[in-house]
Amino acid sequence: MRCPACRSTAVRHRSERTAQGYRRFRCGDCGKQFNERSAGLLNRAQYPSDVIALVVLWRLRYKLSLRDLAEMFLIRGLVFSYEAVRDWEAKLTPALAENLRRRRKGKVGRSWYVDETYIRVRGGWRYLYRAIDRAGALVDVMLSEHRDLAAAKAFFRSAKAVTGVTPDRVTTDGHDAYPRAIRTELGRHVRHRTSRYLNNRLEQDHRGIKGRCRPMLGLKSTGSAWRYCRGHDELRNFLRCRSRMRQHVSAATRRWQHMRRSLFGAMLPIPAREQLRQGAIRDPSPEPLATVFRRAAIAPIAAFVGREPRRCS
Ligand SMILES: [Zn+2]
Repeated sequence: MRCPACRSTAVRHRSERTAQGYRRFRCGDCGKQFNERSAGLLNRAQYPSDVIALVVLWRLRYKLSLRDLAEMFLIRGLVFSYEAVRDWEAKLTPALAENLRRRRKGKVGRSWYVDETYIRVRGGWRYLYRAIDRAGALVDVMLSEHRDLAAAKAFFRSAKAVTGVTPDRVTTDGHDAYPRAIRTELGRHVRHRTSRYLNNRLEQDHRGIKGRCRPMLGLKSTGSAWRYCRGHDELRNFLRCRSRMRQHVSAATRRWQHMRRSLFGAMLPIPAREQLRQGAIRDPSPEPLATVFRRAAIAPIAAFVGREPRRCS
């Protein structure tokens, strides 16, 4: 454990814990007191970080309103308002999205499908630029107020930066801005195909975010809409089980992959995880939630939510 103020390793462990069960320390060099999540995004949050991580994951993944989540956790005795869910989402989503984006570097194909879809923000429409590769893996997503050359260029710049890949071929629906944006941002050798019919797979892929936005009754600001759309698409891509289009994935494999990638995998004790992987158990009964909450959170989030607390308040 390092001191978050002076990075010194000369820290002394203190006997008492914080209200959420995190260990406390005192720095021997600068004398400051801190606890296990002092340097993290959720310092001073009302609940243990892994509870909050679960709330945010469900918010991004499932079609739940802010109030639905507050109500669902109320059943387990965790009391917070829908405003708290909004706050937590604003704090964790950018970090989660960034983490997942870094993992994608160099992992997409060289044939991209690019299109825009509409998202309702504060009563008006915004353009959500999205791109996937031939196998259906996410290339990039960007929200823009306008549908023009500047937006198309910004999108290709971002896509190239995040994936570290220059495509050989780009398929679009034929909007006027694309040929020039592709030429200037990706290079002259990139083949540009325009076909509404070939872009069908991407039109289908828009369903994910369109369906998720419907129960939200419109987003309130462009900034929060962008944050949400990016977080949602990154998580959806991370939890995808197929690695190519039309690939058959058996129910057992799907279950195992979902368990492994999502928080549910982290919830299971290691022997149960191993048995599940080997197919020895088909339906592991989950532990009581109180125990589950004390366990570590999903791997990409674990880095910034801090260590697991010993007890849940
Ligand atoms: Zn210090």
